[in-house]
Amino acid sequence: MNELLDAVDDLTLPRNVKVQIDGGYTWATEDALLVQLEESIHSTMGRTGGRGGGDSRMILDADALMQFSQIGSVIMDWCRMVRAHVSKNPSEDLRAWYVAYSATPGEQLDTFYIKQLVKWAALIRGKLNPRETIEFTDPCPECRESDWVNEDGELIPNPVTIDYDKSGDVLNDAKASCRACGHTWQGVWELRGMRHAADEISAIGGD
Ligand SMILES: [Zn+2]
Repeated sequence: MNELLDAVDDLTLPRNVKVQIDGGYTWATEDALLVQLEESIHSTMGRTGGRGGGDSRMILDADALMQFSQIGSVIMDWCRMVRAHVSKNPSEDLRAWYVAYSATPGEQLDTFYIKQLVKWAALIRGKLNPRETIEFTDPCPECRESDWVNEDGELIPNPVTIDYDKSGDVLNDAKASCRACGHTWQGVWELRGMRHAADEISAIGGD
């Protein structure tokens, strides 16, 4: 097992992902994380109505552009340190760096590089998929159920889920919903109320 290569692969190689479709799963190929980050900078919208023709791709996401440039320039620095060829394509450069770095004797900085690469992967994933869903581990304060029944008829614990934006203001944008009774809580005040109600119920000791 090579943790450093795994971290490099995670950023630079496309992967097969399981996609849920009606009544089952299928496999699809997802672009490498660095490619997805680069693509999130631009949009091909406006190509038809573009003035003056040429490249009408607009920069839509300045934050993605900044992150992509920062990652790219760090990778270029790494390449220079091990005299690897720099192509200014961060995926290619990172792979070229890995080959040169692995062939350079006396380097014992794997932990540092792994940490940095894993951090980038998490950063890009958070950016590309900013919504996260967590389970609320108390019973639903509305219906008091601590389980819910899924479409296969199985009894699953923790009916209430909280969906929030990892990249933004966590609570303001959050939404909770109960899979047992369908009740929803939206925004910071309703979520605080839900937490408070759940605490009161558990303080009483439930039913
Ligand atoms: Zn409920």
